Amino acid sequence: MLNYLIVILDQASTSFCYYNNPAYSKSNSKPIPYNTLNRIVDYALENSLMINYLFGIDSLPEKYHKLIAKSQHVKIVPAQAFDYFSDEEAIMVINENELEFAKSLENNFTHNIILRFPKSNLPELSEIVELLIHKCRRLNLSLLDINKYNNDDFDVYKRQLDLIYDIIEDSYLSGHSVELNFISDRLMLTEMNNCNAGLTHLTVGPNGKFYLCPGFYCDNVNSSVGDMNSGINIKNKYLLDLEHAPICRICDAYHCKRCIYLNQKTTLEINTPSHEQCVVSHFERNTSKLLLDELSTRLEVFHDQEPIPEIDYLDPFELVKSIPGEHKNVNKKISQDQNKKYKQLSDRELLLKILNQQERILKLLNSKTK
Ligand code: SF4
Repeated sequence: MLNYLIVILDQASTSFCYYNNPAYSKSNSKPIPYNTLNRIVDYALENSLMINYLFGIDSLPEKYHKLIAKSQHVKIVPAQAFDYFSDEEAIMVINENELEFAKSLENNFTHNIILRFPKSNLPELSEIVELLIHKCRRLNLSLLDINKYNNDDFDVYKRQLDLIYDIIEDSYLSGHSVELNFISDRLMLTEMNNCNAGLTHLTVGPNGKFYLCPGFYCDNVNSSVGDMNSGINIKNKYLLDLEHAPICRICDAYHCKRCIYLNQKTTLEINTPSHEQCVVSHFERNTSKLLLDELSTRLEVFHDQEPIPEIDYLDPFELVKSIPGEHKNVNKKISQDQNKKYKQLSDRELLLKILNQQERILKLLNSKTK
């Protein structure tokens, strides 16, 4: 069910996650036409939808702010423009070229922060996280260019996660809980908590058209899925569901965004994640597991928390390629699958059945076994 809209207020609005907006800069500013925004706000009110507004660096005329105030909303604002905003619920985005700004933030800064972190700065990640963690209510990390990570990058990220583990553990043990989407969320999650673009939210571009998410608009303005007059028209919408994502369905990296934009870009299939996305999410999941194991023995609040099982793979696709019995906890994970008819099957039979849903993966499997 659609719960909210993401509205791109300016062609130069900030990104807030994995995609890039190539027009993001003050000089490219071109605000959404006032009448279009008016129509979107009316549409949201008529359909009881919240709005997440994506701002650019340049300020908007006062009449826009009055219109925005009519809807239930969250403002997502680039760090360079944040001074204009007194709204307590506004979320700051620190973009890849604004890391120095992160270092200069006041200690009493209490907003939520989205940190869009470039691959080239990976060795500094724990340092920046340590700096920000006590300056915000919640820190959301978006690693940029995940699809270009190689084994060396994975090693660096793993080392950074080990350092961040120490920072979080110290923080919890000294009585300060911290919220980090990539580690602490998984401590509490018992089911998938994905982005759900196209399912629970849609994006409206400055042209008034619907898109699956802002990334699809920024990459190709012709990829719209309808507009406010003709309605929403998502082809093969069922592919967006977890039920139709055979790899993700057997995965328990519940905090993973399962980003359909990156899926489409890297595997050409909206419901199939790339190896890199899976590995990164599993490093994070495994860090959460270690943290939960430790905290549940030391802090009462974690005593009843469901433990995160130990697994010996970093990409659920490895299960597909494995020989029967090669991996630990496969049966346990499959027994959590909601579809009871599959429970009668062996691991191998089940995985082959899942693979039959996806021609591309099946071809890959065949080529590996020749
Ligand atoms: S699908 Fe979701 S996580 Fe991925 S780029 Fe779009 S909004 Fe961000």
